[in-house]
Amino acid sequence: MKLLSAVVPCYNEEGNVTDFYMEFMKNESFFRQKEIELELWYIDDGSKDKTSEEVKKLIQEDGRVHLLSFSRNFGKEAAIYAGLEKANGDYIVFLDADLQDPPAILPEMYGYLEQGYDSVATRRVTRKGEPVIRSLFARLFYRIMKKISDTEIVDGARDYRLMTRQVAEALLSLKEYNRFSKGMFGWVGYRTKWLEYDNIERKKGETKWSFWKLFTYSLEGITSFSTAPLAFAAFMGVFFCLAAFALIIFTIVRKALFGDPTSGWPSLVCIISLVSGVQLFCLGIVGQYLAKTYMEVKNRPIYLVKEEI
Ligand code: UDP
Ligand code: MG
Repeated sequence: MKLLSAVVPCYNEEGNVTDFYMEFMKNESFFRQKEIELELWYIDDGSKDKTSEEVKKLIQEDGRVHLLSFSRNFGKEAAIYAGLEKANGDYIVFLDADLQDPPAILPEMYGYLEQGYDSVATRRVTRKGEPVIRSLFARLFYRIMKKISDTEIVDGARDYRLMTRQVAEALLSLKEYNRFSKGMFGWVGYRTKWLEYDNIERKKGETKWSFWKLFTYSLEGITSFSTAPLAFAAFMGVFFCLAAFALIIFTIVRKALFGDPTSGWPSLVCIISLVSGVQLFCLGIVGQYLAKTYMEVKNRPIYLVKEEI
């Protein structure tokens, strides 16, 4: 018998835990035919509601369900990492608790592993039911990433992925503290099959991603998988040096030819403001990378466990 582990990050998902279990276990007979057993890891990412209690109820009824709760909210990326560490399966799949990642397509996904793919990933092709401004920024983010990063980051990619043990081990070998899964999947490579589906709206509860959280997450993605902003900072430095040089020559020549007194402090103020603005901006970029490096160097654990059942 082989084993398939499902990793489900949960943050305040009390209303979804049981529904998810029901939906997921509908695949039981399919996988039994294939001689594959199922196990389910709920990763409670420091929920403030009754998520853990709901999972414990399930554990009493079904020994294949497991719970790992964090000491506080560490974020979905940490939950995914914890799940990878805990899962024992020959195959591992990540799913959201809110049923936005339909467990019903798991058999289809498994079919591709049988065909020799190492991982099966999903992307949504529509963003139906999402605020317009959010979709707009998301599109912009993926477009920028495509330009500035060598690692492929697919637009609309979800974290819903089925993979073999080998791929899971590869992901585990990336020990970085600043985790950006969408990029890490691309970075480890392996033969990946992409499945597409329309956006499915969340069943119960509400999204944990505010616009601001998404925005900082996108900055995380950029700094984790590209150093292009640093190159941009250096480019701005060179550009303004050249401009200043041209201005100096212009001023000297004008003085020599026409004897103009150097005039115009308004233009001076403009130039100083512009240049110091650019300087601070570039310093900020450098600071972002320094901060990331600082967090990595501290080498803190990615998550802390409160309870494991
Ligand atoms: N999640 C988590 N920790 C967090 C935020 C979210 O474990 O800090 C989980 C959440 O419970 C859900 C999944 O990650 O199972 C996706 O979150 P959500 O549905 O809020 O995001 P969206 O689908 O809106 O992108
Ligand atoms: Mg969701």
